Amino acid sequence: MAIRPVNRRKRVFHRRKVCRFCADKSMNIDYKETRTLRYFTTDRGKIVPRRISGTCAKHQRALTTAIKRARHIALMPFVGNVPD
Ligand SMILES: [Zn+2]
Repeated sequence: MAIRPVNRRKRVFHRRKVCRFCADKSMNIDYKETRTLRYFTTDRGKIVPRRISGTCAKHQRALTTAIKRARHIALMPFVGNVPD
């Protein structure tokens, strides 16, 4: 009789992503606050998608507007460090 391998379940850790702006009411989305906005962009300057950052639809929308506004007045880059 063959020894059956123990069916060990791989534990996939699901870290509940929660919108940072919903969790912390003191955090506000403002195009002038590039420190906050920078957190939601990649080092290439792209906006981090919702599925990665966990930001809710409402705040992601506000964030996108803020980032685009900040880019327009040159507070943030359209394109950041491009690795080659
Ligand atoms: Zn939110």
